[in-house]
Amino acid sequence: MSKYLITTFGCQANMADSDKITAIFNKANYQNAKDEDELLSDKNPFLIFNTCSVRQKAEDRVFGLNKKLIELKDKNPNLKVVLTGCMMHYSEKELKNRLPHFDYFVDMKKIKKLSGLLPETLKPKDVQTKTDVSALIPISNGCNNFCTYCVVPLARGREISKAVIDILKDVRKAVADGAKDIWLLGQTVNSYRYNLKSKEIKFPELLRLVNAIPGDFWIRFASPHPKDFSDELIKAMAGCEKFAHYINLPIQSGNNAILKKMGRPYTVEHYKKLVKKIRKAMPEISLSTDIIVGFPGETRKQFEDTKKIFEEIRFSMAFISEYSPRPKTAAAKYFKDDVSHKEKEGRKDELNEILKKTALENNQKLIGQTVKVLNDRTEGNKLIKITNVRHPMFNIKNEFVMVKILKAKTWSLEGKLL
Ligand code: SF4
Repeated sequence: MSKYLITTFGCQANMADSDKITAIFNKANYQNAKDEDELLSDKNPFLIFNTCSVRQKAEDRVFGLNKKLIELKDKNPNLKVVLTGCMMHYSEKELKNRLPHFDYFVDMKKIKKLSGLLPETLKPKDVQTKTDVSALIPISNGCNNFCTYCVVPLARGREISKAVIDILKDVRKAVADGAKDIWLLGQTVNSYRYNLKSKEIKFPELLRLVNAIPGDFWIRFASPHPKDFSDELIKAMAGCEKFAHYINLPIQSGNNAILKKMGRPYTVEHYKKLVKKIRKAMPEISLSTDIIVGFPGETRKQFEDTKKIFEEIRFSMAFISEYSPRPKTAAAKYFKDDVSHKEKEGRKDELNEILKKTALENNQKLIGQTVKVLNDRTEGNKLIKITNVRHPMFNIKNEFVMVKILKAKTWSLEGKLL
């Protein structure tokens, strides 16, 4: 049996895409290798890199692979190396120039083509995605927003919503296969809309339809855009008993002028109002956000506004990144990357200090409460250690359990199984 290995960079959408690649190889009787060493004695091995372009660092890791690939191919000249994912926004000519040791460049939209690269006898019959206890279900792909710093619309194209019937089929299958944590995914998941027999189904309605599928499972979604977060969606979230009370709501900056420059069509005031409404409807919801520090022209004073919003909203988690210009984006073309690396790092540290404080305080409020847990995560997506069960990740694996919180740390909780 030949072997393959996938390295995935980036977000959950890329992980979901890697599941599709896995299915192609599994159907072709390929075996997943544990590491690169296992590919060295194989006759038809494949090494796949599913890439991310959101940050320069992620691309640099791929551009830095040449030396490693020379060594691997020296040891096994049969090795075939494939690049797919968001770095396909570069032209194939440029990729071939900069990554001469890759054999194939495959657009994720045409990923079924991968099967054509496999040896004739091993070609797959059809493509199915694997299911785990967490199932990543893409409901749309691409984005129409063109935030000035973001390469996603260039890499993935315009937003296309998947048919409602196909999404419901995917969820039903995942639940039947044992999934208990269903993630609905899209670059702007809440702008989903699909015409079904002259009726337009929007995201809140889709959420209700998924909620109505029989079975015991959580529903989560990523990533929503604040501009598409309607009152109807809040009502649907609060009304769907399967919706797990966790949401990542990217704000990106706490300053209106910077938001405008980023091409984010909402204000800080709108965001604050939105959070207020969400918390009113679901008081126990756990909230995280995404932030970019050091966007071109971001002054100290403008950054202080982001600190202020961090203090005010009191997030439980935040994904903070330093701005890096992405090729072909409007920000890279028209704005100077004028905040120094040192300053960006400093701003990131300052936000992290606030976050540590608010995350701990939010966790401390949970002491004494009983929460629903699946493996090592609470419904609010917090890491939890169950202390009165030996090897909980083995003995109560993939089961919903109720846990009383006894201890709170900054990034995790401890509790006892009831
Ligand atoms: S909404 Fe903005 S940040 Fe999100 S994928 Fe679209 S362009 Fe990128």
